[in-house]
Amino acid sequence: MFINTFLKILFLSISLRQGAVYAARFYCSQKVFHPGDLIMVHLIKEDRDSTLRVTENKQERRLYPYSSRACHRNHYFFFTGFDIKYYPSQVTYKIYSAAGCRTIIKHLQPVSIAAGKVKLKRTQKKKLAAATRRNRKLAMAENKFFHNFFSNESTNIYWEGGFIQPVAVCRLSSAYGKLRTYSTGRKSYHRGVDYAAPTGTSVRAVNRGRVVYAGRKRMRGRIIVIDHGGNLFTTYWHLNNILVQTGSIVEKGAAIGTVGETGLASGPHLHFGVRILSMPVNGEMLWQLDIDN
Ligand SMILES: [Zn+2]
Repeated sequence: MFINTFLKILFLSISLRQGAVYAARFYCSQKVFHPGDLIMVHLIKEDRDSTLRVTENKQERRLYPYSSRACHRNHYFFFTGFDIKYYPSQVTYKIYSAAGCRTIIKHLQPVSIAAGKVKLKRTQKKKLAAATRRNRKLAMAENKFFHNFFSNESTNIYWEGGFIQPVAVCRLSSAYGKLRTYSTGRKSYHRGVDYAAPTGTSVRAVNRGRVVYAGRKRMRGRIIVIDHGGNLFTTYWHLNNILVQTGSIVEKGAAIGTVGETGLASGPHLHFGVRILSMPVNGEMLWQLDIDN
């Protein structure tokens, strides 16, 4: 076992010395991939002149410059993730550079999903029933609106350095991925993170970005959507009030609104979401990313 490892290391160092080097280094924010994970793939181009391309399950991924700083020249990244319910069993990355092609295979490890019951007040029950049965079209239109909304690529890079939590003092009231059964009988996976806090508690922008939506929707209530660039969006639902306007640039930590219970919410809380394009991933992984400031 030890000798085997030793030989592998020896072989690796020989092949590196002989020049069979791939002109790119590949790093992932996670060693193990789970459905619902937010993953940041970081590539470093070692040869200044070579072109660099990467595919994820045969689909070409656009690479974004990691930072404009001189020390990060040749550093690239992209955000990725897989749905909590619909996910591939394995992910194959192919990195093409002038020196050749390198393949990296990652297997997705399923997660055990916690189940939770959501008790709704009578008025909320009515609202949900109205939205899902009588006004099914309305609920579907709202879902479709956001699906289309997040399908637009965001190629400008706004975020800078590490991400912060949206509410400074709060209680995690519902984690990402929970399978919820509503008192109306409806079942759904929770594709955001809920933070319970008193109405009026300040909600902050988790990083620099552009407000691409600030408005009101029947189910989600008063909402803000921030585009951080590189196809990463953060969403803030059920706000009591909104302090920013669509189109404005917000700095990291800026007060953008306050916690509330507008729309379909059982008590004051912030439903915080992270999307890689239209894919909702676990928002709590955002501030765990190892990002150089
Ligand atoms: Zn929620």
